[in-house]
Amino acid sequence: MARREFIAVDGGVDATTSGADEVDDSSDLLSAEPHPGEHHSESGLRPKRLDDFVGQRDLKNHLGVMLTAAAQRGEPVDHLLFAGPPGLGKTTLAHIVGNELDTHVLATSGPALERTGDLAAILTKIQHGEVLFIDEIHRLPRPVEEVLYPAMEDFRIDIVLGKGPAARSIALDIAPFTLVAATTRTALITGPLRDRFGLVSRLDFYDHDDLTRIVLRATGILGVEITETAANYIAKRARGTPRIANRLLRQVRDYAQVHADSTVDDDAATKGLEFFGVDNIGLDRPSREVLVALCTRFEGGPVGLSNLAIAVGEPAETLEDVYEPFLIQQGLMVRTQRGRVATQAGWNHLGLVPKGLPFEHQPDLFS
Ligand code: ADP
Repeated sequence: MARREFIAVDGGVDATTSGADEVDDSSDLLSAEPHPGEHHSESGLRPKRLDDFVGQRDLKNHLGVMLTAAAQRGEPVDHLLFAGPPGLGKTTLAHIVGNELDTHVLATSGPALERTGDLAAILTKIQHGEVLFIDEIHRLPRPVEEVLYPAMEDFRIDIVLGKGPAARSIALDIAPFTLVAATTRTALITGPLRDRFGLVSRLDFYDHDDLTRIVLRATGILGVEITETAANYIAKRARGTPRIANRLLRQVRDYAQVHADSTVDDDAATKGLEFFGVDNIGLDRPSREVLVALCTRFEGGPVGLSNLAIAVGEPAETLEDVYEPFLIQQGLMVRTQRGRVATQAGWNHLGLVPKGLPFEHQPDLFS
């Protein structure tokens, strides 16, 4: 096979080189999953009321009507399912529902409810009108999910007493409650469960204006001085995700505190994000390394997932679930049947060009 050469064009970025001023960690700054311990810093930034929740207009309108109507009737609101990628506000909405209805939110998650008894214990204690929030509901074991069906529909659970032929089931009434569930994997929600929700809503990635508003709102809460350009700059790199926008803001605030006069101005935002390795389209260092490896070590592909994973020293699942989606979404690489392939935009982004390649060896994608 013909060898391809690579040249850096002006302004090119090469993630394999590191300047003295760069931080030497590959921490996942742009992962939409919460970092360990991040829940604490996030909780102060969570909007408490529907009015404070930025964006998602249709969902907000729909939910607003449901909450008002339920409050007027003095009844619990219908069960709600929020779907969408991490960091878009599903947990925040669950707590907003509790605040708007002035009631408690009991929070748990699919993986935490291992046995039917775990869920039954919660449901028998729940008080009238309270909210039960189950995060990652697609990970509920099937027998536990089946306990939910009569609980959601008739506010009743069936408890099996005894074992074998002598076993009998008794029905126990529970207080009317609202289940708010969140999932990142809608496809894994079974039909019978899905049908029992009064509202199934998918959260979208946020647009630039909404992300800028989220950044400005957070600066108000954190007491950070910021210029509008700097807020825009952060919003542009936040991958459509409020969690990432808030995280970048906190990082830049730290940078400004140490290297400037604490004001996040245009200069501090630019230098701060560069310092943390976040580039102009929101790629962090590990994501960029995947693209660099694909282009420089595998000649732009096609290359299999496992080889690419070994090249960057990450488990294949991490590559597939964490780094690739954004690279693909941005049109920098594609998955083909023969493997991963860098797109022209991917080469361009790194400032690299494949050189000296006979036409017939070019991947289909470039033709
Ligand atoms: P999810 O449950 O979808 O992973 P979260 O509800 O935990 O996401 O939101 C992550 C962080 O992003 C929260 O701390 C919250 O401050 C912020 N956030 C999410 N959605 C919004 C929004 N619409 N407006 C303002 N902040 C938001």
